[in-house]
Amino acid sequence: MFEKLALIGIGLIGSSIARATRLKGLAKTIAISTRKQETLDEARALGLGDTYSLDPVEAVKGADLVILCIPVLAYEAVMEQIGPYLAPGTILSDVGSVKQHVTKVMAARNPEGVHLIPGHPLAGTEHSGPASGFPELFINRWCVLTPAAGTDLGAINKLTKFWSMLGSNVETMDPSHHDMVLAITSHIPHLVAYNIVGTVADLEQDTQSEVIKFSASGFRDFTRIAASDPVMWRDVFLTNRDAVLEMLGRFLEDLSKLQRMVRVGDGAGMEALFTRTRKIRRSVITAGQETAAPDFGRPHAAPQVVSGPDGAADVRGVAAPLLDVNVEPQMPVREHGGGDDA
Ligand code: NAP
Repeated sequence: MFEKLALIGIGLIGSSIARATRLKGLAKTIAISTRKQETLDEARALGLGDTYSLDPVEAVKGADLVILCIPVLAYEAVMEQIGPYLAPGTILSDVGSVKQHVTKVMAARNPEGVHLIPGHPLAGTEHSGPASGFPELFINRWCVLTPAAGTDLGAINKLTKFWSMLGSNVETMDPSHHDMVLAITSHIPHLVAYNIVGTVADLEQDTQSEVIKFSASGFRDFTRIAASDPVMWRDVFLTNRDAVLEMLGRFLEDLSKLQRMVRVGDGAGMEALFTRTRKIRRSVITAGQETAAPDFGRPHAAPQVVSGPDGAADVRGVAAPLLDVNVEPQMPVREHGGGDDA
């Protein structure tokens, strides 16, 4: 489909694109560029590409598809470097979690004849770095493309096909609409998680250890989201401020209503609200955006059948993993990452 794919940034998202592109045979050559030697070495050791360079210009030379997979506040400097070396006919895209800001930054440095089609795969985990990627990341996830009016249709169709081949459902949207939708579906939930976990971090030591001990009662799911990459999320809140503040205003109004229900003992009101929210959870599962499996589908040790002292079958390993409040896939990844569908 493409002669040369250049990936600028090779963390969770970049490495997942590299793996899936390789698996599906969507590019003859994959060129990888990243900022740090250590990350480049890791990508090379994992065999994610065909060429590796610390210089993004090297990577984009001769590329017919260039995808920026870096934090959004890093775009400006990278675009200043690569802009003059993008050849006419190239598709220039990205995976950034906000779209108005990056569209402006990229468009201002995009040469004539290069097809700018910003994108955002709504797929992620709380891990980061080249080792955290996997080729199935985009399967049955949405990828939103936000091309400006008048963008070459052939180029849009080609990029749409690329993401479809990676397993995504593709939708085209206006960048400002994207940012508003993502503010409520992704950015506010992350803000709430950071806040709840931050509140716990400020508690007295004794109370804190109790919270951690009994975290399976709800808190632990917030801790997973709040383990998301600090730099990436700092950039999201700095660049999608208006939409986040708009949605945060609504959220706080609703929280005040809920606070009143609790204060005045409005059981009927709470029950009605919780019944509505339960339906939303079901529709998320029906839409294929979550698993109905217990415990959010986290892996648990398979039950082992071993012989008991009397030779009778004895099933082990069922209850123990359920008590483990932090069961996560074991992989050699860095501590932080983006979040769910950041
Ligand atoms: P990641 O795993 O932390 O990888 C980030 C990559 O960007 C690394 O290659 C890193 O290079 C490079 N980088 C970091 N700072 C840079 C800078 N100032 N200049 C140049 N390169 C820099 O991040 P990720 O999760 O893949 O996220 C990448 C992009 O995807 C972000 O824009 C994010 O908004 C978007 N996104 C993330 C998720 C998610 O859940 N993680 C989901 C959808 C979209 P070095 O290691 O060499 O510094």
